Amino acid sequence: MATASSAFKSREDHRKQLELEEARKAGLAPAELDEDGKEINPHIPQYMSSAPWYLNAERPSLKHQRNWKTDANYTKDWYDRGKKVFQADKYRKGACTNCGAMTHDAKMCMDRPRKLGAKYTNKFIAPDEKIETFELDFDGKRDRWNGYDASTYSRVIDSYEMRDEARRKYQKEQQLKKLEEKNSSLQLPADKDSDEDEDEDKDGGDSSHAHKNKIEIDCSDARQRKTKGKEEQGGSEGAVVLLLFL
Ligand SMILES: [Zn+2]
Repeated sequence: MATASSAFKSREDHRKQLELEEARKAGLAPAELDEDGKEINPHIPQYMSSAPWYLNAERPSLKHQRNWKTDANYTKDWYDRGKKVFQADKYRKGACTNCGAMTHDAKMCMDRPRKLGAKYTNKFIAPDEKIETFELDFDGKRDRWNGYDASTYSRVIDSYEMRDEARRKYQKEQQLKKLEEKNSSLQLPADKDSDEDEDEDKDGGDSSHAHKNKIEIDCSDARQRKTKGKEEQGGSEGAVVLLLFL
């Protein structure tokens, strides 16, 4: 129960209180309301809902369960990385002797060690850095993603999309190439066949002679194919077909 003060109660009062609690749990009586008029869950056990005595709580509430240490000074900000504050045009006293920025000394300088520091050359004075200090809360200190700009993730998405697009384009090209090769290989053996048919016509009716000639042609064909390479692989099929006809 969220009743605040645990003043003395008679036996009768105590019994009534228990009955009311039971009724609330069963949903027969309306739930107890806290200071802000919000309902208090009747199933919250007493040891959680009753406030400690030293809080002197007058009314039922669950405020003591909330974190009252929340400090408005805590920020969710992050450092302005790479931000420059002031660009000097000549060396100032007390500045970094190496780069000429006021915000650090030569020992802490992140600039390349110059052969002759900015103090002596008075040239290429580095701008002062923006130095910030934050008061971060417990979570803020441990937040590894603090300061992360979620919109930069679109760059990652873009790069992946570009990759996918390039892959699709390449695959399409490969497919077209394959189809072209297939087409050309289908046409080539047909040409050969017609050539060889002509030869056969010239030889005339002598079948044995024709057969001999055919084998010779095939042999020479094979030699030619070897020299020509892959392109006319279909030619061998044509020759085999011719042999079968004889
Ligand atoms: Zn420096």
